[in-house]
Amino acid sequence: MSKSVELSAFFREIGFDNQASQDRAKAVLVEAGKVRAERSSMSEDKKPGCAEILAEKIVRLCRACERDEDDPREKVVVTNKSGCEYCDGSTNKKALDDAGAVMLKNNVKKVVVVGGSPGIHRNLVTLWPKKIELRIVDGTESHNEKASKANLLWADLVIIWQRSELKHRVSKLYTDAESNHKSKVIMVPRRGIGALAERVKTHLCT
Ligand SMILES: [Zn+2]
Repeated sequence: MSKSVELSAFFREIGFDNQASQDRAKAVLVEAGKVRAERSSMSEDKKPGCAEILAEKIVRLCRACERDEDDPREKVVVTNKSGCEYCDGSTNKKALDDAGAVMLKNNVKKVVVVGGSPGIHRNLVTLWPKKIELRIVDGTESHNEKASKANLLWADLVIIWQRSELKHRVSKLYTDAESNHKSKVIMVPRRGIGALAERVKTHLCT
């Protein structure tokens, strides 16, 4: 049998650092049938699956980011910035640095990111690896075929941030790209800078 882990320890490990946030995290896992309401621990091998569910359902924000972030997921306020998904400098910076190294190795030097919220764009620009050029397309703005074609021509990699603030009309300009550009376009099914960095790495490494 797998070792068991205290829920509170697991929650702290993934950024839920106060009681209120941990209560919400537990409620979500109970609802998903992953943990039992009366238990305060779970088996350790459930950690990855539970972390995935929480990332889908809840966005962890610090007080500063809480105000101006509109994310469709349930908002939970964390005490430390290190637990905040949007301004978590350390984890996101490392994830992007790693992805940046992989991009450079694969000659990816120009990247277009389509979609994402204003708050996440600010952080992306701040943390983005300096040697790689970045263009951001606001997924809600009026973006036309001329602009998308120019971006597709310019870019080595186009990242479509699904499930973010992204109009279908805008993403379609990229997903319907001519076949010679298709291989440049990748989808990131989850929100958050960590998810984006991870997807870039798996795309380029496989
Ligand atoms: Zn924050």
